[in-house]
Amino acid sequence: MGRVGAGASVLQGLACLPVFYALRDKRVLVAGGSNAAAWKAELCHGAGAEVAVFAEDPCPALAALALGSPRISLNRRRFEAGDFAGMALAIAALPDPVDARDFIKSARAAGVPANIVDQPGLSDFQFGAIVDRSPLVIGVSTDGASPILAQTIRGRLEAMLPHDIKLWAGAAVAWREKLKERNLPAVARRLFWEGFCARALAPRQTKPVDDDFEALILDTNRGGARETGSVALVGAGPGDPDLLTLKALRFLQSADVILYDDLVAPGVLALARREAEKISVGKRGYRPSCRQDQIVAMLIELASNGKRVVRLKGGDPMVFGRANEEISALRSAGVPVEIVPGVTAALGAAASLQVSLTERDKARRVQFITAHAHDGRLPDDFDWGALCDPHASSVVYMGVKMLGVLSERLLERGIDPATPALLVERATWAEERRIFGTIATLAAKVAAVDPAGPCVVLIGAAFAAYDGEAAPIDHGVKQAAL
Ligand code: SAH
Repeated sequence: MGRVGAGASVLQGLACLPVFYALRDKRVLVAGGSNAAAWKAELCHGAGAEVAVFAEDPCPALAALALGSPRISLNRRRFEAGDFAGMALAIAALPDPVDARDFIKSARAAGVPANIVDQPGLSDFQFGAIVDRSPLVIGVSTDGASPILAQTIRGRLEAMLPHDIKLWAGAAVAWREKLKERNLPAVARRLFWEGFCARALAPRQTKPVDDDFEALILDTNRGGARETGSVALVGAGPGDPDLLTLKALRFLQSADVILYDDLVAPGVLALARREAEKISVGKRGYRPSCRQDQIVAMLIELASNGKRVVRLKGGDPMVFGRANEEISALRSAGVPVEIVPGVTAALGAAASLQVSLTERDKARRVQFITAHAHDGRLPDDFDWGALCDPHASSVVYMGVKMLGVLSERLLERGIDPATPALLVERATWAEERRIFGTIATLAAKVAAVDPAGPCVVLIGAAFAAYDGEAAPIDHGVKQAAL
C-alpha cells in the first residue's frame, strides 16, 4: 500500500471525518422540546434508531412524533446523567449555554458522542445537509462554517441526480448478491459495475429491471458495453440559464458533443460538460438555412460513432425549430432520439414583462406565428381573422424584418389600430430591450432602433397591462459556478 504516505499528506487539514453511521436498532438520546429537537428525533428515527426524548415542555411536533411511533419515547423531564447509558449518540437542542455544557459533560462521562444543535464548537459531531436517495445517501458539511452553503450545495446535488438513482442504488444491493453467484474475476466485476453506473446515471432515465442485470452480464462477457450513440434535441430556453429544465441540464452535463444554434445564450453553454465538444451550427432566421442537411448528416455521423449528442436549440425545440426534419432523419438512420423541452421565447418574454398572455374576457386564445416563410417573405396564408381577433394574444416569431408589412396588412384587415403591440429583443437575457406601442405605431419605432438580437412581437389587448416597469432582471452569475 505505497499510497498511504501520499494520502496522508493530501488529507492534512481535513476539517472533519465524514462517516456514515448505522443507527438501526441503536439508541439515541435527544434533549430539548423545540422543532429543532423534533427534527433531529425524526431524522434518527428515520435511520432506524430508538429515540429517547427528554423535554420538560415538548412542542406539538415533538409530541405528535412520539405518539406516531413506538420507537420514540417522550420523557417529560430534564435529561439526567443516568439517561446516557447505552446510547449510541446524544443530541441536544438546548439554547441555554449552561444546559448545553451540562449535557456535553454527561455525554462525555458516559462515553457517548454528542451534538449540540447550532454549536459546532461544543459538539463531537455535526449533521451535514442530506441528499436522501437511500440506500444512496450524500452528506454535505462545511464544518459549521456556513450551513446555508451546505444546503445550497445540497440543492445543486438534488438537481443533478436523476430521481430514479434511488431505485438503481436499491438494485445494486440485490445485484451484488446475484453477481457473487456468478463467480466472476475481479476485472469482470469492475466492468459490470462500470456498466451499471453508465445505466444508472444515463441522462435518458430508466428504472432498473432484471433485463438490465442480464444485459450488463452480457456486456461484461464481451469486455465492456458497446457505446450506442444517441441524439437529444434539447431546449436551451430563451437565454437566462436559470430557465433550463433539470433534464436539459443533465443532458448538457453528460454530452460528448453539443451542436448549438446562434440563439443559444453563452450562459447556457457555460453549464455544459467542460469536456464536451461544442460545435456552432449558427442558423439564423434571415440567412439562407441551406445547412440543415449538413447538420442532420453531422448528427447521424456523430451518433453512429457512439457519441451522446445534444442538439441544443434556442427556446423550445418543437417551436419553429425544424425539429420534425431532424427527428425523422435520425429515426430513419436508426439513431435513438429524445426531446427535452425548453421555455419558448414567447413565454420567456411574457415572464419578463410580467404580463399574462391570457386574460379572462380579454384574451382567450394565444397564437404563435412566424412572419418568415421559406422564401423569407411574409407568409400569405395567414388566418387574418384570427390575427385581428380582439380576444386573442399573438406572438410573432422571426417578425422584425416583416413587422411593417405585417402591421399594414393587419390594419387593412380591420385590426383595431389601438391594439397594444410590444417588441421584446433578447427576452430574459441581461441585455433584454423592449419597445412598446400599438399595432399602428410599433413598426416605425422598431425601424428607428433596428434591433440586432432575436425579437418577438406581442400583439393583443392583454398587453395593455404592460406598464414598462416590470421588475428588474436578475441574471448572469446565479448559475455560473455550477
Ligand atoms: N425554438 C425557438 C424559436 C426559434 S425561431 C423558441 O421556442 O423560442 C427563432 C426566433 O425565435 C427568433 O427570430 C425570435 O423571433 C425568437 N426568439 C428566440 N429567442 C428569443 C429571445 N430570447 N427573445 C426574443 N425572441 C426570441
